[in-house]
Amino acid sequence: MRFQDFKSLEERLELMTELSGRFLTRAAKVDEEGSFPFENIADLKETGYTSLTLPKKVGGEGISLYELVRLQECIATGDGPTALSIGWHMGIIQDLGEKNSWKESMFEMICNEVKEGALINNCASEPQTGSPTRGGKPTTSAVKEGDYWIVNGRKTFTTMSPVLDYFNVTATIQESGEVGYFLIPRSTPGVEIQETWDSIAMKGTGSHDLVLTNVKISEEYLVEWFEPGNKGSSGWLLHIPACYLGIAQAAQSYAINFAKDYSPNSIKGSIIDIPTVQQKIGEMELELMKARHFLYSVTKQWDQSNEVERNQMKPELGAVKLAVTNAAIKIVDLAMRVVGARSLSLKNPLQRYYRDVRAGLHNPPMDDMTIMLLAKNAIGNR
Ligand SMILES: Cc1cc2nc3c(=O)[nH]c(=O)nc-3n(C[C@H](O)[C@H](O)[C@H](O)COP(=O)(O)OP(=O)(O)OC[C@H]3O[C@@H](n4cnc5c(N)ncnc54)[C@H](O)[C@@H]3O)c2cc1C
Repeated sequence: MRFQDFKSLEERLELMTELSGRFLTRAAKVDEEGSFPFENIADLKETGYTSLTLPKKVGGEGISLYELVRLQECIATGDGPTALSIGWHMGIIQDLGEKNSWKESMFEMICNEVKEGALINNCASEPQTGSPTRGGKPTTSAVKEGDYWIVNGRKTFTTMSPVLDYFNVTATIQESGEVGYFLIPRSTPGVEIQETWDSIAMKGTGSHDLVLTNVKISEEYLVEWFEPGNKGSSGWLLHIPACYLGIAQAAQSYAINFAKDYSPNSIKGSIIDIPTVQQKIGEMELELMKARHFLYSVTKQWDQSNEVERNQMKPELGAVKLAVTNAAIKIVDLAMRVVGARSLSLKNPLQRYYRDVRAGLHNPPMDDMTIMLLAKNAIGNR
């Protein structure tokens, strides 16, 4: 069964729910081993999911941001690392199709590759820059040699590195000091993955270091110019809060099922009937409801807006990421309080959710930057 066989979101969500159930059965092992969810990514490719954001003009489905966010959230209820990993690829392709920022021939080339199952991610972080959203200039360098670029450098946090076919790398052009995105195919000599990812959160994202040594690519592989610290308004980044919302949903479901079953001999029945347990379940539900409404309404607003309106949505996009990610952290905390000390057992999925949701704080945009943007906006509007 392929996602392309269905036209409605409900049907696609049904298929994704089935896949997500599979992902959940694999999640603990991948996390414990610190490996990568190869089988999950293979399932997503096989079912056509990885090409769903290709625009209609190239024969794709051109799904909306709202649909993307709903499907991504569903993946994360089974496995957060799989959702975050594939979310970058899905979002990048959607964004490229909407912005038309690449030369047509290069965009066509990548679309044809994606139809065949190729995966792409942006590689912008470096040890020296910290989060690229703060404006640090890449130390990865590009030098022109005839009709070619020679790229050298090291990128950190290269999510999905075990299976990426294309690395979209930021580099500073040595001669001019300008910064660009350079599309580097995995098979290019000088491309190496160093397995440095030792994070305790989102272990299954395979976010290792990408090391580029005298990587030679043809000049048209400089695909886009880039202004450090000025990412603009990026709706596609809402795949990030969708991921953490999915993890929070999984935590609440686990806690409710646990509370229904757990029957210590100090009470009759199970702890689901205890008012303080219900209080926490209600608080989780409230947080989930607020997070969903905020996320879904901003994504729908994005889908209905033109380019000018979208460019003004940066404060809302930042706010929704901050609100949903922090709500997810709170929901997992409440779920763990319902379950008690068992939630800290290595065998318990809640300890994995607890670690995984923390990563959301360190995905873009960062909370302090969003708060400052909101402050400037509020002051400017008065
Ligand atoms: C699970 C995961 C997946 C990721 N995947 C990718 C990916 O696929 N591609 C990619 O390119 N990146 C990826 N990243 C990297 C991410 O985008 C950030 O670059 C990374 O998390 C570092 O962010 P940071 O805030 O910790 O770093 P820093 O920016 O170094 O910040 C560290 C601390 O210093 C402070 N600080 C630093 N500079 C400033 C400043 N100028 N002003 C104010 N405060 C400052 C911050 O407040 C923070 O407290 C991923 C990260 C995670 C956690």
